[in-house]
Amino acid sequence: ASFEDMGIKEDVLRGLYEFGYEKPSAIQQRAIMPILQGRDVIAQAQSGTGKTSMIALSVCQVVDTSSREVQALILSPTRELASQTEMTIQAIGSHGNVQAHTCIGGKSVGEDIRKLEHGVHVVSGTPGRVCDMIKRRSLRTRAIKLLILDESDEMLSRGFKDQIYDVYRYLPPDIQVCLVSATLPHDILEMTSKFMTDPVKILV
Ligand code: AMP
Repeated sequence: ASFEDMGIKEDVLRGLYEFGYEKPSAIQQRAIMPILQGRDVIAQAQSGTGKTSMIALSVCQVVDTSSREVQALILSPTRELASQTEMTIQAIGSHGNVQAHTCIGGKSVGEDIRKLEHGVHVVSGTPGRVCDMIKRRSLRTRAIKLLILDESDEMLSRGFKDQIYDVYRYLPPDIQVCLVSATLPHDILEMTSKFMTDPVKILV
């Protein structure tokens, strides 16, 4: 299937084409439709497969930019990955006016608060800072409908397990979850059974 066949919005398609993408990569072929249908998805994929753009595209497609509430949250193991994901969202979402913000350690808390109060549609961050922003009530979780856990095995090996569970507790109970991981060890499977309902499993 092409991006058009997937029912991607016009403004998102323009962003993709400007980015130089003509057709979906293997993981995009298989994961985007179930995500857009609202299914929980486990994608076993490494970086280099097009997973970041898959995440960005899905997020841009599901947010309603007429609201200024945060509707999608992406957790990543490193500041670099969180920033890269945010930049990809800004690029693909530029025509649809998708506003994204990165919440990562080492950056100004005041700036995070200011940006979040101004209103963004998407937050991409590391578990520690995201958890902090939620507890300060600067990051409102009420309207979040999609949670993406990127490089989940890496997040767990960096000791973020408790913070991920903490963040999850603040999210609406019916939230859609998409988990990306290169490997699926026991503690990841435990997380999928706690957070997800009848997930679609994709291996690329
Ligand atoms: P990622 O795994 O998301 O880090 O992507 C790896 C590389 O593939 C990046 O340089 C992307 O810009 C590129 N890429 C991702 N999806 C596509 C696509 N559908 N068509 C062409 N290039 C892509």
